[in-house]
Amino acid sequence: MQAVLQQSFGYDSFWGFQREVIDHTLAGGDSLVLMPTGGGKSLCYQIPSLLRPGVGIVVSPLIALMRDQVIALKENGVKAAYINSSLESYEVATIISEVRNGEIDLLYVAPERLLMEHFLELLETLQIALFAVDEAHCVSQWGHDFRPHYLGLSILSTRFPNIPRIALTATADEPTRNEILQRLDLQKANMFVAGFDRPNIRYIVMPKDSPRQQLLKFINAEHKGDSGIVYCLSRRKVEDTAHWLVSKGWNALPYHAGMDKNTRQDYQDRFLREDGIVIVATIAFGMGIDKPDVRFVAHLDLPKNLESYYQETGRAGRDGLPSNAFLTFGMDDIAMLNSFIDNSAAEEKIKQVERRKLAAIINFCELPSCRRQALMHYFGDQHPSSNCGNCDNCLTTVDTWDGLEAAQKALSCVYRTDQRFGVVYLIDVLLGVLNERIISFGHKNISTFGIGKEHSRTVWRSIFRQLTGAGYLAVDYEGHGGLRLTQKSREILRGEVKIAFRKDVKHAFTSKSKNKASPKSPKKKKAPVISGKSQHLWEELRAMRLNLANKQGIPAYMIFSDKTLDSLVDIKPRNNRELGNVFGIGANKQKKYGKDILKVIANDRL
Ligand code: ADP
Ligand code: ZN
Repeated sequence: MQAVLQQSFGYDSFWGFQREVIDHTLAGGDSLVLMPTGGGKSLCYQIPSLLRPGVGIVVSPLIALMRDQVIALKENGVKAAYINSSLESYEVATIISEVRNGEIDLLYVAPERLLMEHFLELLETLQIALFAVDEAHCVSQWGHDFRPHYLGLSILSTRFPNIPRIALTATADEPTRNEILQRLDLQKANMFVAGFDRPNIRYIVMPKDSPRQQLLKFINAEHKGDSGIVYCLSRRKVEDTAHWLVSKGWNALPYHAGMDKNTRQDYQDRFLREDGIVIVATIAFGMGIDKPDVRFVAHLDLPKNLESYYQETGRAGRDGLPSNAFLTFGMDDIAMLNSFIDNSAAEEKIKQVERRKLAAIINFCELPSCRRQALMHYFGDQHPSSNCGNCDNCLTTVDTWDGLEAAQKALSCVYRTDQRFGVVYLIDVLLGVLNERIISFGHKNISTFGIGKEHSRTVWRSIFRQLTGAGYLAVDYEGHGGLRLTQKSREILRGEVKIAFRKDVKHAFTSKSKNKASPKSPKKKKAPVISGKSQHLWEELRAMRLNLANKQGIPAYMIFSDKTLDSLVDIKPRNNRELGNVFGIGANKQKKYGKDILKVIANDRL
């Protein structure tokens, strides 16, 4: 098992519970594997497929994913193939005869194909190592990636009762988990649940000031030459932003559902293949993007909930190297997302859930404490420390101010106006604005009228958001979004607690701040600290990689990963034996590319 890891993949140790899953599968057991993106799910079924007699059958929902996996496996010398609707029937016939002859260790198929009766009959004549169901959450009718054909996959347990099955997904909330177990008939399976933290992703969140400038400043400081994804809410904004980035010297391409299909495909391919492309996209972009070296994901608009945010930011740094998730948010986004919900055709019950989820992500943005801890908590996981050391709040002390008095004013204003008004109205009262509504409700005579003039409207907004986020106020979603007091409010009104509000920081990447090297600027840790000379070698190796990739028409990262580049620069192997110690270079890659690599390194030594 260890030997296969080293020989075929060039890795020297297993991650997390890969070993346990593999053992369990080799012993014939079923598994449900929940691991975050980049956690290394594929090896859990790839290695047992190589070790057990027969062919491993992998059900995968997307043609692009299958193709990428198969190319990557072949690069490692693994005998893999796929069958889907993109193939001609003679190609399918060839692959089937190879499978029959035992020449294939891993066969990827679309669920539609697998469930065809003649295909099932074919499988019954073969020796099968295992069934793997990738992206198993596609079986969930409530999820966002529902694929009706996945529902048919429970048939595998009756038709092939003695073949081990593994279902894998990165979506792990409790209901989805149970749905997978039930619908795939995996009740007896072992569950392997990994922590969902992505420690190499740094979370950076800031209020919008001039979002494009903030983005530009950020990527200029941190991501020269890197690949990244920038998400915007509208197609128009996608186009504009891509254009603008190009005018600033970035290699940016737009991507949204309104574009013509070929162009879109072309841009996606370029993003996968070339180094250093920034794709500016609506959320239509991403599903099935397996590129491991996306160094940053930026959101110029607030995602609609933390689930989307986590999934989209999760596309950064699948290779485990330091990566950034950058988000700017503003009142406009919040208003827009609220009106999307209001105007959608969904049932009121669903709308309420959506509003609650929106409130949670707003709260996340306003948070003065560790963002990773908050994310983990939201997803029902724990982070062992209250300081992760890798989010903006942990890296810099957040300026806070003692807000008890302001909080008391805000809460009593809610109380005095009978707990039914929204933020705009409440702030008007606090600031002593004499408008028609206030006069008609008689609120110019209450004790809280005009008692909040020491703070600006913006500061009051932030106060109300933070009070709501911390549970001192609740939004009445069933009514008109008015604020009301909660159980907890009493603590503040009685002055029993301390409350610290976050100052709206002037962030390093706000357009006005000139000081790039301010302590707010998170420094990127490029794996080994590279000296000038090594940097040169790194670039040479990278150029060689691109060249090899172009010759074969495959993405550069499939030749080898950035981590392998780092490892090469670190070890500077002089011969094949030393090459064997390099991360990610197994027997096949050594044979295929060893000579080229050693030559580049030898030249560099001169
Ligand atoms: P997932 O499917 O869970 O998102 P992958 O299976 O694509 O993740 O793995 C992510 C990357 O990590 C791949 O490039 C994979 O080859 C690599 N990887 C997986 N397991 C290991 C390991 N034990 N050591 C080193 N690299 C690994
Ligand atoms: Zn943190």
